[in-house]
Amino acid sequence: MILSIITLFPDMFSSVFGDSIISRAVDSKKITIEIYQLGDFAKSTISSRKILDSPPYGGGPGMVLRPEPLYTAVEKIKEKNLPNDSKVILLSPQGKQYNFGIAKNLSMEKSIILVCGHYEGVDQRFIDLCVDEELSIGDYILTGGEIPAMVLVDSIARFLSGVLGNENSTENDSFTKNYSYQLQGPVYSRPREFLGKNVPNVLLNGNHKEIEKWKMNQSQKKTKIIRPDLLNEK
Ligand code: SAM
Repeated sequence: MILSIITLFPDMFSSVFGDSIISRAVDSKKITIEIYQLGDFAKSTISSRKILDSPPYGGGPGMVLRPEPLYTAVEKIKEKNLPNDSKVILLSPQGKQYNFGIAKNLSMEKSIILVCGHYEGVDQRFIDLCVDEELSIGDYILTGGEIPAMVLVDSIARFLSGVLGNENSTENDSFTKNYSYQLQGPVYSRPREFLGKNVPNVLLNGNHKEIEKWKMNQSQKKTKIIRPDLLNEK
């Protein structure tokens, strides 16, 4: 899978993608991540400074990313090496709320272009012309789309074959069928006792049927308290 990211701040990605599971996935070519500087696609300049944003028509605070560099970026990146039907996603608080199911579906795409907004947002004409889907990572406002893009890349990469050490991991998390699409519940490791708190006995007796029953029980209990909205989801 190729994930192309258009951003004003390419350096923000180096530490997150340069470490741990994502870095190994890139090294082993399970995933290709290409970061593009939006400024490289700007035609207009003032005193050799690239013009990427302008004040909003109609007034209001902040600056809006202009449509032409974004449009050129998407066209040129597609022309360079991507299938023409590459999915273009704009990270936006006005998008559909991102979740486990969307991540899983996106992991089946061959190529995705992620566009990071900044400042007051992105000119609507670019959205109308180029964007297939707007996605939000939650009901709050971040300074830019870079962190949301990292969230998408990380959560999508987990579903790609060979990215996680254990292929079964993605079937055993919160929101999976294994937990009836609910929260996973608590997990424990060594030591058996820590500061007076013990690992529940049921996890130590080797009875897998009882352990599974306990896990399902814990999952439902926690979901009911923390995320009752998930109880009726399938
Ligand atoms: N004025 C915009 C609004 O009210 O919808 C918010 C602009 S925000 C300060 C700048 C950029 O950050 C957005 O264009 C988007 O790319 C990104 N962003 C901020 N919050 C986000 C969220 N919750 N999910 C996805 N992207 C977000």
